[in-house]
Amino acid sequence: MHQSALVLFSGGQDSTTCLAWALARYARVETVGFDYGQRHRVELDARLAVLRELRGQFQPWAARLGEDHMLDLSVLGQVSDTSLTRDVAFRMEASGLPNTFVPGRNLLFLTLAAALAYRRNLEVLVTGVCETDFSGYPDCRDDTMKAMQLALSLGMDRRFLVETPLMWIDKAATWRLARQLGEASGVARGGAALEALVIEHTHTCYQGDRVHRHDWGYGCGTCPACALRAGGWTRYREGGLDATP
Ligand code: ZN
Repeated sequence: MHQSALVLFSGGQDSTTCLAWALARYARVETVGFDYGQRHRVELDARLAVLRELRGQFQPWAARLGEDHMLDLSVLGQVSDTSLTRDVAFRMEASGLPNTFVPGRNLLFLTLAAALAYRRNLEVLVTGVCETDFSGYPDCRDDTMKAMQLALSLGMDRRFLVETPLMWIDKAATWRLARQLGEASGVARGGAALEALVIEHTHTCYQGDRVHRHDWGYGCGTCPACALRAGGWTRYREGGLDATP
């Protein structure tokens, strides 16, 4: 039975739900974030706000939540040219991938996370990658994750488990999962509290919009990330026509 985990944590809805998932399972949980010259510092600020609120509102989890690590990955800006690291508009490329795609980004994230987990003696790597949503990022696919688990375990001679709680669920089910994890947390009204925390403090909008407040949180409301988050929220609130995991 695994006891400890490192969560790849960006401060978005997905990785926040993954962090709650890990806190519900493991006795010791640490977080790692990557600063790669994101266009919007709001993402990094959101991380700290989410950690602060989790510690403050969820006592059973606060005891398990350990160190937060931040790694400087500004080198990504030297090898990629995307709308996430430079000030260019989001669009789809001829390859069929959005120009937010940084080739191999998740491979790099996982490799660095594993190196950190090795040093911190953490057994499980938890990441919010998902095949179900639109993205089609090849480094988010289940096969890629399984290959990485094998490569990292062999290459570091340490048996790592890569867990992907969101791999086969859509955004409506991600909202539902957060609600369920909060309800099971042992905190009174924890389901509503975790849902409110996700709405208020996580950030997904590509435009970095923290001005416009919707039922589902802050964002421009029109970029692909906002559209996904809003669409999932609507289906979740309507009672979920989508499949549960
Ligand atoms: Zn947006």
